[in-house]
Amino acid sequence: MSQESSAYPCLLCGACCAAYRVDFSLHEMEDEGGRVPRGLAVEVNGSTMRMRGTDHVPVRCAALTGRVGERASCGIYEWRPNPCRELEPGSDACERARARHGLPPLAA
Ligand code: SF4
Ligand code: SF4
Repeated sequence: MSQESSAYPCLLCGACCAAYRVDFSLHEMEDEGGRVPRGLAVEVNGSTMRMRGTDHVPVRCAALTGRVGERASCGIYEWRPNPCRELEPGSDACERARARHGLPPLAA
């Protein structure tokens, strides 16, 4: 494994951004005092927003750039919502997303 892939596995992955519905509080939107750009999310209800593209099949967040499993990054990394910050490389959710895209476990 190269130094880059072991230190920053997400840069060669992006699977979780193309696997899960990403819902978060309305208060994370830039026009509500947060930082998520308005154009990248859709309203679910009066208090919940969803990253655009994450409830379609195939799932792919509108903020994701690159190709899953090759080179991928979040176009709003600094402004991404909480669920994205909480999903840790090597967690169960991470490994499930990787498996869904045919990628080997990080722990391997
Ligand atoms: S699935 Fe895991 S390794 Fe891949 S981008 Fe998400 S957190 Fe990073
Ligand atoms: S906002 Fe960024 S980190 Fe979150 S799902 Fe979309 S591309 Fe991935």
